[in-house]
Amino acid sequence: MSDLFSLKGRKALVTGANTGIGQAIAVSLAGQGAHVICAGRRTCADTVAMIVKNGGTGESLILDFADPMAAKEVFKGQGISILVNNAGIIRREDSVNYSEEDWDAVMDVNQKALFFTCQAFGKELMAVGGTGSIINIASLLSFQGGIRVPAYTASKHAVAGITKILANEWAAAGITVNAIAPGYISTNNTEALRNDPVRNDAILARIPAGRWGDAEDIGGTAAYLASKAAKYVTGAVLNVDGGWLAR
Ligand code: NAP
Repeated sequence: MSDLFSLKGRKALVTGANTGIGQAIAVSLAGQGAHVICAGRRTCADTVAMIVKNGGTGESLILDFADPMAAKEVFKGQGISILVNNAGIIRREDSVNYSEEDWDAVMDVNQKALFFTCQAFGKELMAVGGTGSIINIASLLSFQGGIRVPAYTASKHAVAGITKILANEWAAAGITVNAIAPGYISTNNTEALRNDPVRNDAILARIPAGRWGDAEDIGGTAAYLASKAAKYVTGAVLNVDGGWLAR
């Protein structure tokens, strides 16, 4: 029973691991014993330093989804059995004025890159007969509409759908595919909202837990989903939102 949550001997790749939720997930997976490849469009040296300081191992990898197919060759022969698709962007504008450029930029990173990174990972695991876990970062906006974020909302609904179809197709191959749907978490992504007193208060009033989430709140959930404790969990989109959706 004691190693139910251990990730010792596993190798993980986390996208967008230089900051925020991705950084917390990388540190959490390494804390359970995984070697973590911290991928980012810029160096993840800070994250690797945090991992090493905690007694773990990791490395930094440049992976920029300016090309949504960037991860195509990344998994070959690497023995990676945990993939966390965390990289994501948000562009805010009223739907009536939303530009094609913003739409394409958000969709490319949040949806297209996520799917094709899953595909590259799954293809490699199937080629070597391995098993593994995919954890996609969805959002409250996988369930709700939000405001002024039409591409983000559409992309996060897609993340939930991609998670479910891949869970169906790959369960028999021993690959679990789940998503975490964070509520409002204090990171760069939500800085504009926290700096707007009206939006900040309106959001806080709707969170039963009475506080914004921390990136660490998501890190532990990802470690659980990657572990043996979750080996029969697949196709789930797990809310980590302080009770927002329950209200
Ligand atoms: P964040 O601090 O802005 O992190 C986003 C990460 O994605 C950063 O590492 C960023 O790199 C990376 N990224 C963006 N574009 C990229 C690209 N083209 N190629 C590679 N990496 C790229 O915000 P966060 O809140 O931690 O977001 C992490 C995930 O959680 C996202 O998928 C987001 O949608 C999701 N989420 C967040 C919240 C929340 O309340 N914060 C709620 C629900 C879901 P740079 O640092 O270089 O930009």
